[in-house]
Amino acid sequence: MKNFQKSLTLILFISLFACKNSTELVNNSKKDVAIYTKIDSILSQMTFQQKIGQLQQRVIKKIDDSLKNEIRNGDVGSILVNLKLITDASVRNKLQKIAIEESELGIPIIFGQDVIHGYKTMFPISLAQSCSWDTLKVKKAASIAAKEATTLGIDWTFAPMIDVSRDPRWGRIAECYGEDTFLNTQFGIAAVKGFQGEDVSQPDKLVSCLKHYVGYGASMGGRDYQYTEISKRSLHETYLPPFEACVNTGVLTVMSSFNDISGVPASANKETLRNILKDKWQFPGFVISDWDAVEQLIYHGYATDSIDAAYKALNAGIDIEMKSNTFKKMLEEKIAINVLNDAVKRVLYVKLKKGLFKTPYVDENRSKTDLLTKEHRLLARKLASETMVLLENKNSILPIKNKPLKISVVGPFSKEKNLSGWWRSNGNKDDLVVPFEGLLKNAPNNIKIIDKVNSSTDIIIACVGEEYSMFGENNSRSSIELPNKQSEYISSLKKYNKPIITVVFNGRPLNLTSEKENSNALLIAWHPGTEAGNALADVLFGNVNPSAKLTTSFPAATGHIPVYYNHRNSGRPKYNSYKKESTAPLYPFGFGLSYSTFKYDNIKISSKDILENDSITISAEITNISNIEGTEIAQLYVQDLVGSTTRPIKELKGFKKLKLKENETKTVNFTISTSDLTVLNENMKPIVEKGRFKVWIGPNSNNGLEETFNIK
Ligand code: BGC
Repeated sequence: MKNFQKSLTLILFISLFACKNSTELVNNSKKDVAIYTKIDSILSQMTFQQKIGQLQQRVIKKIDDSLKNEIRNGDVGSILVNLKLITDASVRNKLQKIAIEESELGIPIIFGQDVIHGYKTMFPISLAQSCSWDTLKVKKAASIAAKEATTLGIDWTFAPMIDVSRDPRWGRIAECYGEDTFLNTQFGIAAVKGFQGEDVSQPDKLVSCLKHYVGYGASMGGRDYQYTEISKRSLHETYLPPFEACVNTGVLTVMSSFNDISGVPASANKETLRNILKDKWQFPGFVISDWDAVEQLIYHGYATDSIDAAYKALNAGIDIEMKSNTFKKMLEEKIAINVLNDAVKRVLYVKLKKGLFKTPYVDENRSKTDLLTKEHRLLARKLASETMVLLENKNSILPIKNKPLKISVVGPFSKEKNLSGWWRSNGNKDDLVVPFEGLLKNAPNNIKIIDKVNSSTDIIIACVGEEYSMFGENNSRSSIELPNKQSEYISSLKKYNKPIITVVFNGRPLNLTSEKENSNALLIAWHPGTEAGNALADVLFGNVNPSAKLTTSFPAATGHIPVYYNHRNSGRPKYNSYKKESTAPLYPFGFGLSYSTFKYDNIKISSKDILENDSITISAEITNISNIEGTEIAQLYVQDLVGSTTRPIKELKGFKKLKLKENETKTVNFTISTSDLTVLNENMKPIVEKGRFKVWIGPNSNNGLEETFNIK
């Protein structure tokens, strides 16, 4: 209760300063006051058993009388949608009707599902999306996913995943927005805004869920679910900031992670769940555990049995338990009433915010018009083409010129339909345009596309990669080379003595040392989703000039992992590699080629000194020195040279996407204020430290024009 009153006061307080006009303020605060009044009234009528029912998410195996009775009894607060059972909105509405009309209190069920990078129209995997460095398109993709998923009556998605990860062996690196904290923050915010919209109660919006809270990306050795050893500093500097920013953006739910954080499992971690998320950040929504994670506290050696696990999880701050059924084993007299009520209130808060009490049913006809529309496919195509990263383009072999040519599109992925990654929601592989088909359909008149290499072949397009089941959850790999002897396959194509364009459909950074050597062009296509083949054709035939840049470093060997751009220096920075072997990435963070060539000049800084609470502007000129229009992603990095604690050698602080016509010059400007340079001192207090900084504007984390400034 205390927590909720605190939240309410804070929400009112924040609204006061956040809202631009006073009418908005009055409406917003009135709405939340009304919500909390309604919550109190419902709660006062609830029995212990009905409260526990709200805290249990059911994973249903069949829709039978026993499930219907449990809904009637108020035991089912939420359902994880199984798409084989809930096949259309009418099935969902019928279950909802039982909750509304036949249960004593008529509390609606909230239906959740993993709508990660699309529902029916599949967009590229999240890691690929981040390579677009385009938060607006990522937001739009999330809003389309929401529009499609709500046609089935899904109210809530378990996305975005904002686990910073620097280990490509970990299969789930595919689901996050790369190795950088700042980027996970920016894309996390974009996705939350896309899913929830301005008003989440609208019928085409989804409640969003941040996951996995927290530190899951640090799984030891890249093995899934493993222990994570995370210092307080890394927790606060690297893993927590994206979550805090998305909480401030208004995300309504958070999922706890599977990992043990330095001795206390995340799903019973009072410090991260209650102290930081709920008390310090004043998060008003609810926390759901990950799948069976409460029960798994037993295996962690943190709970003696499932009842002990339930008390520990609830007390630490888990509000809803996913899949396992431990919460209902708890005894009323053994739970502090304020802890129990706080959890129930949070669940009701989200249901009220989503408008489920007012509008519990969904329109059963919308699926006829709102799925896989032309507009949705268009964005999927555009986003996919803007996420494909060009790593090599020797002698400008790409784009393929429109002249009489015979192109052989070959390799194990040339006709692959499963190119939508690990999470596919309701996406159908038969809706996907495979690479061969896309190239065939979109080839200019003079170009003939064939599916074999023969003596008349002019260019070979070799489609290789990782199957969808090689990455994602519980799909870690001990080696990040191309699997199944595909590197040998590419080498074998050299005997034809024709240019080889290697296209890689992958879900993680790979060691492409051999492909770099053996290919004339190398394109990372990721798992691009429904419009895979069309987007690929757009890039290879030059209708889209590639602009994507890597958001994870591509290591030159598995043994080099972790390789990430913003590490700290050692006392002997020149000697940190292996014997006669550099650990420099094969392709660094931020890297990606275009068919245009860009030149950076004239870095300028508005002042060499910044006073505290002030800002400076740093600018540079970027010229497209080629004769083809293109888009450049300019990046801003800083380094705090000396401080009370050490800092990374570079930290991304901004990025801008600029469209430049042939020979055009544009000035790119970045503003940094001292608050952007806040660090945690030796006592973990946020401070702005005085002293000298380096700053770079450049095309990637390895190159750039340099300046310096001081904080006075
Ligand atoms: C995954 C989550 C997912 C949940 C529900 C878990 O195994 O870790 O990311 O949201 O299942 O499907």
